[in-house]
Amino acid sequence: MDMAKVDLFFKRFHRLIIMIEKEFTCPYCWENQSRLFDPSIQNQNFIEDCEVCCNPIEFNLVTNGLDVIDLSVNLIGQ
Ligand SMILES: [Zn+2]
Repeated sequence: MDMAKVDLFFKRFHRLIIMIEKEFTCPYCWENQSRLFDPSIQNQNFIEDCEVCCNPIEFNLVTNGLDVIDLSVNLIGQ
């Protein structure tokens, strides 16, 4: 393995280990779930469908760059 490949491998691995797993409860079906979040972006707001009931959940995420400090989930349109 040459150095460029080693470096690329390290970057991918490093990126994997800094993902933070957090649990949340779907506001539609109340199913407890967990998801990996990227803490490198400090304020995140995105919509993703629930894996159980497929309704769109709005995620509001606050991080300190290394860990998730606040996570809230909301129903869309409320
Ligand atoms: Zn759901």
